[in-house]
Amino acid sequence: MPICMMIVNGAGARCGRLAGVEKVKVRGPGFRVPETRWACARCRGEEIAVVAPEIPDGARDSRIGPRCGACLSHRAGPSGVCPSCRSAMNFHARENPSRPPRHGSKARRAIQVAKPEVVAGYKYGDVILRIQAELNGGA
Ligand SMILES: [Zn+2]
Ligand SMILES: [Zn+2]
Repeated sequence: MPICMMIVNGAGARCGRLAGVEKVKVRGPGFRVPETRWACARCRGEEIAVVAPEIPDGARDSRIGPRCGACLSHRAGPSGVCPSCRSAMNFHARENPSRPPRHGSKARRAIQVAKPEVVAGYKYGDVILRIQAELNGGA
């Protein structure tokens, strides 16, 4: 099974993800002719829809604090999502109040997992809560 061969940091570490790996032609600073490499969807720059797992309170690392429930990589604020995901959510609520964010987007995941009691205090809280009910209410 192929794994992602893309270099992800300055130390030359490989990404190693298995999800959505496909062959791509890449060019690097050291070679002129494109080489074939395996690259996962993330390294190819495609957004992947991620279903955020429920993080039980007991499993959270109290030292670093809870992770963002939407991107799972940054530290969450009081709303349960990180500042980056929160701004994506607020931006969507301001620009597109009449429809939910597209599938797989950061804003959509953020709205789905944000804590309603915190979101209610946001400027666009009513919009976010309405979209959240639409997304999480099934159907
Ligand atoms: Zn990768
Ligand atoms: Zn986030």
